[in-house]
Amino acid sequence: MAQETLVVVGASLAGLRAAEAARKAGFEGGITLVGAEEHLPYDRPPLSKAYLDKLPDGASPASTEFRSADTLRDELGIELVLGAPATGLDTAGNRVLLDSGELGYDALVIATGAAARTLPGTDGLAGVHTLRTVDDAIVVRGALEAGARTVVVGAGFIGSEVAASARKRGLEVTVLEAMPTPLVRAVGERMGAACAALHERNGTTLRCGVGVSSLEGNGRVERVVLSDGTSVEADLVVVGIGAIPATDWLEGSGLQVDNGVVCDANLWTGVDRVYAAGDVARWHNPMFDRSMRLEHWTSAAEQGAVAARNALDPESAKPYQTVPYFWSDWYDSRIQFVGVPTADEIEIIDGNPESDGRWIALYREGDRLSGVLTLNGQNVIMKYRGLLMRKAGWGDALEFAASRHGASVAEA
Ligand code: FAD
Repeated sequence: MAQETLVVVGASLAGLRAAEAARKAGFEGGITLVGAEEHLPYDRPPLSKAYLDKLPDGASPASTEFRSADTLRDELGIELVLGAPATGLDTAGNRVLLDSGELGYDALVIATGAAARTLPGTDGLAGVHTLRTVDDAIVVRGALEAGARTVVVGAGFIGSEVAASARKRGLEVTVLEAMPTPLVRAVGERMGAACAALHERNGTTLRCGVGVSSLEGNGRVERVVLSDGTSVEADLVVVGIGAIPATDWLEGSGLQVDNGVVCDANLWTGVDRVYAAGDVARWHNPMFDRSMRLEHWTSAAEQGAVAARNALDPESAKPYQTVPYFWSDWYDSRIQFVGVPTADEIEIIDGNPESDGRWIALYREGDRLSGVLTLNGQNVIMKYRGLLMRKAGWGDALEFAASRHGASVAEA
């Protein structure tokens, strides 16, 4: 395999981990990392958290780049092709197409992630932003520095983190959510409401079950008009209504695309030597025996590594199975979830979500533990992830919970 070329499209977390894993596995051929953004690969989670925080006068937020250009080029021998979105894929000719030419590959990892969904009809209105890239974060941070009255459209994780950052600066913040409760898809209705209580406790106005009719302003946003006829004054509107897998460039490639690049358990697309990883990949997760597309840091990193190893040595390809995990920081609290949020029953086994700063909720599907959500449960969440990995039954999970948080479970 020494003379082969690995091309990775998407120069972010999954793509970088793919390139790193290839070298770690002893791959000595060429590695080209192609990225649409001009930036070196950087980390996204801090962009809606520490990156937005107020700093002492004159200080700038810390860079979130993973590695320097020198390390990437000289130590890892990665050729960087940045600011160059792939525009097409010719699987018959083993070529990735770029505006400036083409790149031949022997093995390919697709890691183009996802792009933020935008609010229709807001193009060209200043003060309206999504938050997906570091360029977005720079603009949002600038607006917060200027004291913007902030409206967040969508009470998902990223939007909620932005709201928390704005509140920490003492700004007026309203979060608008079209669904009756926030985070329905991520953690379910009941626990979504429990997380959302953090907004109210911290002085953020949360309005659920109301849509956005229009954004008004003369060149720059001045107010958000709601479907119930009321409006909220705004200098900054952050739109956090989800992300769309970045698959446009694969049109006509013959790859199966359906809410992401469809892959088997090995992250294989079905086309010789072409694998996918990260937010763009929808793969069969053997751990839960279902097809999933995650938008979580941990799985993107892990999938990148697995996809590269499998692409370079398909004969010994291994499946990627995982218990999904994500975290989110709101105000001074950490929300963590492991597993899947589909549940026949949710049991709070420690703390009271209405009043406490720490609680734990177990999700049951059939007779199996399917998920665990915690607020400030950093000391136990990975233990529950271990239970999920072992496919623990509901009874075992309750027994474990009783041994850890005895009194509360007994009362539940
Ligand atoms: P991405 O990070 O989306 O990277 C894909 C890259 O591919 C991008 O740089 C893009 O420009 C590039 N690209 C797209 N199309 C092309 C093309 N045609 N050609 C070349 N390049 C292309 N997860 C958590 O678990 N916890 C958190 O607290 C958390 N916070 C987050 C906060 C923010 C603001 C964001 C945006 C995400 C957060 N996430 C969090 C999610 C996590 O960051 C993502 O799951 C992770 O970045 C996915 O990595 P990826 O490499 O698959 O995709």
